[in-house]
Amino acid sequence: MLSTMQDVPLTVSRILRHGSTVHGSSQVTTWTGEKEPHRRSYAQVGERCAQLAHGLADGLGVRRGDRVATFMWNNAEHIEAYFAVPSMGSVLHTLNLRLPPEQLVWIVAHAADRVLLVNGSVLPLLAPLLPRLDSVEHVVVVGPGDTSLLDGCRPAVHEYEALLAGRPTHYDWPDLDERDAAAMCYTSGTTGEPKGVVYSHRSIYLHAMQVNMAESMSLTTRDTTLPVVPMFHVNAWGIPHATFMTGVGMLMPDRFLQPAPLAEMIEAERPTHAAAVPTIWQGLLKELAETPRDISCLETVTIGGAACPPAMMRAFEEQHSVRVCHAWGMTETSPLGTIAHPPAGLTPEEEWPYRVTQGRFAAAVEPRLRGPDGGFMPWDGKSAGELEVRGPWIAGAYYGGAGAEPVRPEDKFSPDGWLRTGDVGVITPDGYLTLTDRAKDVIKSGGEWISSVELENQLMAHEAVEEAAVVAVPDEKWGERPLAVVVLKEGAGDVTYEELRAFLGERVARWQLPECWARIKAVPKTSVGKFDKKVLRAEYAADALDV
Ligand code: ADP
Repeated sequence: MLSTMQDVPLTVSRILRHGSTVHGSSQVTTWTGEKEPHRRSYAQVGERCAQLAHGLADGLGVRRGDRVATFMWNNAEHIEAYFAVPSMGSVLHTLNLRLPPEQLVWIVAHAADRVLLVNGSVLPLLAPLLPRLDSVEHVVVVGPGDTSLLDGCRPAVHEYEALLAGRPTHYDWPDLDERDAAAMCYTSGTTGEPKGVVYSHRSIYLHAMQVNMAESMSLTTRDTTLPVVPMFHVNAWGIPHATFMTGVGMLMPDRFLQPAPLAEMIEAERPTHAAAVPTIWQGLLKELAETPRDISCLETVTIGGAACPPAMMRAFEEQHSVRVCHAWGMTETSPLGTIAHPPAGLTPEEEWPYRVTQGRFAAAVEPRLRGPDGGFMPWDGKSAGELEVRGPWIAGAYYGGAGAEPVRPEDKFSPDGWLRTGDVGVITPDGYLTLTDRAKDVIKSGGEWISSVELENQLMAHEAVEEAAVVAVPDEKWGERPLAVVVLKEGAGDVTYEELRAFLGERVARWQLPECWARIKAVPKTSVGKFDKKVLRAEYAADALDV
C-alpha cells in the first residue's frame, strides 16, 4: 500500500530558498584580517547565488552534472558556490588546498572538473599546476590576488564579481531528483589513491537536519557558529547547510586559521559554537595561556576528525568554561556518525565517561562490529571489532570516474553493502562508541592489540606534554611495539622518558608501555590537521631511543 504523503525531493535548492527568505536577515561574517570583517545577509547570499548560477550557466556554459571545483578558504563566496552549484544541477567539488600537487592534479582529472573557483590568495599554489589541469576550461578568481600569475595560461580567466555583475538576482532552480549528485569530496589518500565520495541532495539534506538536532550540534537561530573545519573537509561537517536551515549566524575565518587570529575573531565577533579537529584547539589553548582573551561567548565546541584527548576537553571546560562535544565521522559518512552527549540525570563528574567516548549513533546511522573471525561482536562495551555502518548519508560506493561505474572495493564495503570504516572499537548496550584505533594504526604486539589512542590520551594528560603520538615499530620478538613521540611544553623543564614511562605505567598495563621514545618539535600533521602517523613511522622510528 502506498502512503498518501507528498513526494517532495529533498534538494539543496530548498535549503537555499528557505535560508535566504525565512532567515534572510541572518549573516555570514567573513574575517578579513583588517579592521572590519565582511558581512553579508543570507538574503544577499541568496541573490548572489542566483547571479553565480546565471554566470556559470549563461557565461561559462556550465550544464547539469558538470563538476565545478573550488580551491577556496572558508568565506561567504564559498558559501555561494556551496548552494548555487548543486541548486543549478551541477556538482560542487571542494578541493583540499593542502594536498600535494600530484594528488591535486590526479583528483581534478579524475573528477573532470570543468570550472575552478579559486581564492586570489591561493593563486601561487594553483598557478604552477594549471598547465596540467587538462579538464579545466575556466578559472574564476575570487577576491584579491596576483592574477599576473595566470598570464598566458590555457583556461579562460574570469573575475568572480565581474561574472556576477548585472546578472538577474533570481534563478529558476530546476526540479532535480533528490538522488542526483550534489557535491563531491575526495578522501585525502593517506593510503593509496584518493577516493571520491559523491553526496546526493538527499544525503546532504538529511545530514543537515541531523547536525541541527539538540542531541547533535544543537544549532539554533540564537547561535553563531565558527566552522574552523575547512569547507573542503567533508562539507565543513555539514554546517553551512545546517545553518541555512535554522538561520544560525556564520563566522567564517577565511585563511586566518592560526591560533592568534582565531582568538581575536572569537573575542570580537562572539560566536557561541565552533568546530574543528583537536590540533586546532590544542593550539588555541596554548595561545590563550600566553595572550589571554575573552572567549566567554563560546558555549560549545564540536571536536572530531581525530580522537580528542580528554585532558584537553577538561582544560577547555576548567580554564574557559567551554563545553567540548566529541564527535566521530569520516568523508564517507558526510561526516556525522556519532556525537558524545551524556545521558540525562548525571552529575557533571558522572558525565565524563560518556563524554570522552566518540559518542552515540545518530538515529539514521546503523552500526555493527565485525570481529576478527568475521562474525559480529555484541554491544557489551568490551568486545572489539571493526566498525561497519549504513544509512542514508553513508557512502555505498566511490566515484569511478567520468562515464565509469561506481567502485566498491572489498576492503571498504562488505558484500551486503555496509561501509567498512577501518576503525576499531567497542559499543556499549546503550549505543556509545569508543574507538580504540584505526585498523592500520593499532599496534599488534605478541598477538594482543595495543591502542595507540589510549597511550596518546594518557601521555597528553601529563603536565609537561603538549602533544603525543604513538605508532607501531617492527619488533623481532613481538611483531610490533609502540614508539611514543612527544612534544614537550615550553618551560616544562627536563622531564625524562623514564618519568613519562613511569607516569604511563600507573595508567596502562605494563606490557603496553613503549620502550622506544622520541622527542620532536611538532607532530607532523595531515592536510586536514590530524597527526600524520605515516610520516612518523617513516621518519622517527630509526632515531628513537630505547628506554
Ligand atoms: P582521512 O582518512 O584522510 O583522515 P577523514 O576525515 O575521512 O579523512 O577521516 C576519517 C577518520 O578519522 C575516521 O575513520 C577515524 O579513523 C578518524 N576519526 C574521526 N573522528 C574521530 C574521533 N572522534 N575519534 C577518533 N578517530 C576519529
